[in-house]
Amino acid sequence: SERRTFVTLRISVIGTGYLGATHAACMAELGYEVIGVDVDKAKLESLAAGILPFHEPGLPELLRKNVASGRLRFTDDYEDVAANADIHFITVGTPQRADSQSADLSYVDGAVDSLLEHITGDALIVGKSTVPVGTARRLSEKIAQDAKPGSNIAIAWNPEFLREGFAVKDTLRPDRLVYGLEDGRGLELLREVYASVLAQDVPEIVTDLETAELVKVAANAFLATKISFINAFAEVTETVGGNIKTLADAIGHDKRIGRQFLNAGVGFGGGCLPKDIRALQARVSELGLTQTMGFLGEVDQINLRRRDRVVSLASNMLGNELAGKHICVLGVTFKPNSDDVRDSPALDIAVRLYNAGAEVSVYDPEGNANAAGRFPRLNYVDSHQEAARNADLTLVLTEWQEFRDLDPNELGEVVASKMLIDGRNVLDRPAWREQGWVMTGPGEYFEL
Ligand code: NAD
Repeated sequence: SERRTFVTLRISVIGTGYLGATHAACMAELGYEVIGVDVDKAKLESLAAGILPFHEPGLPELLRKNVASGRLRFTDDYEDVAANADIHFITVGTPQRADSQSADLSYVDGAVDSLLEHITGDALIVGKSTVPVGTARRLSEKIAQDAKPGSNIAIAWNPEFLREGFAVKDTLRPDRLVYGLEDGRGLELLREVYASVLAQDVPEIVTDLETAELVKVAANAFLATKISFINAFAEVTETVGGNIKTLADAIGHDKRIGRQFLNAGVGFGGGCLPKDIRALQARVSELGLTQTMGFLGEVDQINLRRRDRVVSLASNMLGNELAGKHICVLGVTFKPNSDDVRDSPALDIAVRLYNAGAEVSVYDPEGNANAAGRFPRLNYVDSHQEAARNADLTLVLTEWQEFRDLDPNELGEVVASKMLIDGRNVLDRPAWREQGWVMTGPGEYFEL
């Protein structure tokens, strides 16, 4: 409408972590007036100063530019947020609860409660966090009960599919946009928010609240299953022989299967896949369908066994005695191009080796600080050479480009013993073996 072409959309993004900081900066980049909201004052101060408190390629530039232009600002004051934004994206965390497999929804509820205390006029609340099916419907009832008299608040769910490491690109040019709506309200505004994204032929899926919530967890459950599927075959080839990469290539040529997410390795981790498959099982069980998502329990178990496999291989390679051995761990993040160590298989393996008595030196291009925040007792160093110095065994656990490019000769000069586990199958094994390395990796039948 004519009015909208002259009025800039006023948006808040509540929860400025990996997802929210990205979404806020990208919304400002699209030209809107954006307020980033968090309860973590240190995070807000950093963001307001244009300093991104985590690693994400391309995002520091967007943050600086949009803070400088004044389109993007940060606050913890919900009164300010309610008065100066009309569309509120909820991007707070939904981690696994400490006492169960379920998602902890207290941050989502807290954010919505804070909004309801202050909103007095028209507003649209748009959930982006990954939540159990039924959450949006419950929040809608909460809104009906608790909203201030005179206010008019609609809710929509717009799940987020961005990948850490590609977050900006995935936000500005996603594979699809999904909005779950309650009786159609919010559609016009969401189309306006995403107009320039949709203009790039991005598919738009308009649906109900439940479907939108389920699309996100279904996607993650499928991806987790795909990874565990190939890792289950890795267990077979580790026992009988065979080449897991060739197997993956061969089945991946079938377009119905596809080659992506078929890399055998140390398994998936991070702040999404593990907790999302657990929360989905828990939610579906709550609904009375106790067997329906049972296979995801297997997916989880296969995934966790990958870590056991690396720990026992390491022990075997070191003569079944880890105490006092020097182990070099290359990579602690759950994947490359991120500093995220949440539920990282690499960090878990490093800690288990340390707990078994090994001296563990760790190097990650971006993840050292976060890992040290969780497990300060590992020996964090600033280069792969330093980590490898005098190592009895080297583990490559995250497939950073720097590790893909490792030179077997160069590394061979600093280690005590040329033994290596390539946890991500990224090194050219024949070339390394030619240089005298004893090495193995996922999917390989291996005997010392
Ligand atoms: P995060 O922990 O990095 O960020 C969450 C932020 O919310 C924190 O900064 C926290 O302080 C803030 N917060 C908590 N309660 C608040 C409140 N009441 N008001 C304001 N701020 C509050 O988490 P994340 O990785 O950004 O994930 C957020 C959500 O997005 C999760 O549901 C996650 O599953 C989903 N998601 C994440 C990704 C990803 O790649 N990280 C991708 C898609 C979806």
